[in-house]
Amino acid sequence: AKVSGRNHFEVYHSESHDQDQQGFFLENLLRKAVIHKEFELHYQPQIHIETKQIYGVEALLRWKRPDIGFVSPGQFIPIAEESGMIIPISEWVLLQACEDLKRLSLTYPHLKMSVNISAIHFQQADFVKKLEQMIEQSNVNPRFLELELTESTIMPRAEKSIEQLVKLKQLGLKIAVDDFGTGFSSLSYLRRFPIDILKIDQSFIKSLSSSYDDASIVTAIIKMGQNLRLSIIAEGVETEKQFKFLRQQGCDYAQGYYISKPLPFAELQEFLKEWTAIIGG
Ligand code: C2E
Ligand code: CA
Ligand code: CA
Ligand code: CA
Repeated sequence: AKVSGRNHFEVYHSESHDQDQQGFFLENLLRKAVIHKEFELHYQPQIHIETKQIYGVEALLRWKRPDIGFVSPGQFIPIAEESGMIIPISEWVLLQACEDLKRLSLTYPHLKMSVNISAIHFQQADFVKKLEQMIEQSNVNPRFLELELTESTIMPRAEKSIEQLVKLKQLGLKIAVDDFGTGFSSLSYLRRFPIDILKIDQSFIKSLSSSYDDASIVTAIIKMGQNLRLSIIAEGVETEKQFKFLRQQGCDYAQGYYISKPLPFAELQEFLKEWTAIIGG
C-alpha cells in the first residue's frame, strides 16, 4: 500500500509539475508573441433579428503561432491573465478593434464594434484614461464601441465598477454583460449598473430545443430585459429553429454560426458586402 501510495503521489506530483512547466512555457511564448505581433482579430457578425440587418461585430482574439498555427483564446487567455500579459495584449486588441471600426465605418456608418474586456484590464486604474486616448488616436466615434464584461468582472468591487462604468458611459460607450445567466449573481445589480445590453450565454441557446427549463430561462431573460429597457443579444445561435424561437420571443439581436463564424477582416468585408446587397443597409 505504501508503494502504490507513493507512486500515486509521484504521478500526481509530476503531472502538476508538467502543468507548471507548460504554463511557464506558454507565458514565455506569449511574451514573444506580443513582441512579434502574432495576434489577429477575427470578427463575428451580429444581426438585428427582425430586419436581419447587420447590427455589429464582436472582435475575437486569435493567436497565430508560427509553429503550430491558431491557438484558441480559451487556451491562452487564462495564462495571459495569470501572468499579466493580458494587459499589453488587451491594449493591442482595443487599438486594433478601433482602427478596424474606423475603416468599416466609412462604408457602414452605424456598425457597432464589441470588444471583450478581462477583469484585470477593467480594474486597472488607468483603464478609462488609456481607452480615451485610443479612441482619440484612432478617431472613432465611441458611440459605436461596446465593451463586453462578465458579471464576475463587475460584481466584485461593485462600487468601484459602477464608478468606472459611469465614466465609460460619459465617454459614450455601450456596456454589454457577457455570458449573462451564468454568473449566479443577484439581479438587483441590473438596476444599479449603467448597462445597455444583456448577452444571453450560449449554453442556454444550445439546449433551447432539448430543455424546457432553458427555453423558459431564455424567455424570462428577454422579458426582463424588455422591462428594464435593455437590449438583448443571443450568442451561439446555430440553427434556424433557435433563430425563429428567439424572434418569436422578441429577442433583439443574434450572433452565431447560423449567421456566420468569426471571420478575418478581409473576409468580414466580403461578408458585409454580400449581406447588405441582399438585406439592404
Ligand atoms: P465569448 O466572449 O463568450 O465568445 C463567444 C465564443 O463562442 C467565441 O469563441 C466564438 O467563436 C464562439 N462562437 C460563436 N458563435 C458560436 C456558435 O454558433 N456555436 C459555438 N459553439 N460557438 C460559437 P472564441 O473566439 O474561441 O473565444 C472564447 C472566449 O475567449 C470568448 O468567449 C472570450 O471570453 C475570450 N476572448 C476572445 N477574444 C478575447 C479578447 O480579445 N479579450 C479577452 N479578454 N477575451 C477574449
Ligand atoms: Ca464575448
Ligand atoms: Ca459570451
Ligand atoms: Ca464565454
